[in-house]
Amino acid sequence: MLNKGLSEDELFTFFSHKKREDLDHDYILSSMCTIPHSVAVRAHCMFMETNLGDPGLFPGTASLEQILVGRFGSLFHCPEAGGYATSGGTESNIQALRLAKAIRCTDGHGHNGQPNIVVPESAHFSFKKACDILGLGMRRVPLRKDFRMDADRAAEQIDNNTIALVGVAGTTEYGMVDPIADLATIALEHDLFFHVDAAFGGMVIPFLDDPVPFDFALPGVTSIAVDPHKMGMSTIPCGCLLTRDPGILNTLNIDTPYLTVKQEYTLGGTRPGAPVAGALAVLDYLGVEGMKAVVAGCMKNTERLIAGMETLGIPRAATPDVNVATFTCDRGRMPGPWKVSWTCRKHLRIVCMPHVHRDRIEAFLKDIGETHA
Ligand SMILES: *Cc1c(COP(=O)(O)O)cnc(C)c1O
Repeated sequence: MLNKGLSEDELFTFFSHKKREDLDHDYILSSMCTIPHSVAVRAHCMFMETNLGDPGLFPGTASLEQILVGRFGSLFHCPEAGGYATSGGTESNIQALRLAKAIRCTDGHGHNGQPNIVVPESAHFSFKKACDILGLGMRRVPLRKDFRMDADRAAEQIDNNTIALVGVAGTTEYGMVDPIADLATIALEHDLFFHVDAAFGGMVIPFLDDPVPFDFALPGVTSIAVDPHKMGMSTIPCGCLLTRDPGILNTLNIDTPYLTVKQEYTLGGTRPGAPVAGALAVLDYLGVEGMKAVVAGCMKNTERLIAGMETLGIPRAATPDVNVATFTCDRGRMPGPWKVSWTCRKHLRIVCMPHVHRDRIEAFLKDIGETHA
């Protein structure tokens, strides 16, 4: 602590200086987050002090959270789905597996060994954290050549100690949607909790012209993670965990003696209402039509980027289902100041988020064309 406080001027001069050290979004091609929509920023500021961890004090804000859950439930073909706003995909995934574990332990399933989950090799690293915290073994299923999970090999990995099956709708690295319908059938056959990680794709796939089934329209899907703070253009942090059966969330209830509610099932304690208002603001401001326009723009830019790179002799690694483009490309020749990313398999990865406008794609193509000439 400073002994004597700074003047507001001194403080914000310092902060402005620090803010300028951050990268300019004009050059960020590597992130699944984006510049928040202006209505999200406005809503966020309006609900800045609200705490969803003590909802009895903020019933209005708490009802916004329920409206948000309802919006996603409808979008995902289950208007009566339950859920709550998380801090993002990581918390949603941890909580989904916590639920799966709790349900397996209460419904009479005995376990002779360590409980395990079956996930695609492409699963987000949050599942490693979840397995560590929950004491679960992680069985990673190899991908097919098209970078989607191999459903047959997933079925082979399931045993009596398996508590959940996970599929990804919009993988972080390659933007692929796993064969969710096949996995849902396998989950039903084995009476398994099936969690769909749609942290990224959940705000993309429903708005595509020809969406692949990935949600509660498939009877085997138990829960879905979706992140408004990615393609939902809300302020950070905002994720959402949805469950087909709203009642199962109560499996995680613990007593909360000194709060306005007596029990709760979330992972956090104090939880921000501001990004939840921000997330709902974007959904209701844009509506399905507006979101379709945003997603169509991002997909068009992804296609333009892939076509432009291939013209330069830099081939795609995959043909993605969502707006993530990957390439087989020489790492040493990346033009500055562009910020790109690299996958585990050493492919160049670019996420065509809403802030990555068409002119940014053209500028990048021009620059990389020069280093690859
Ligand atoms: C981004 C992402 C996550 C993690 O979400 P956070 O909001 O960063 O915690 C999980 N799964 C997938 C598929 C993601 O793309």
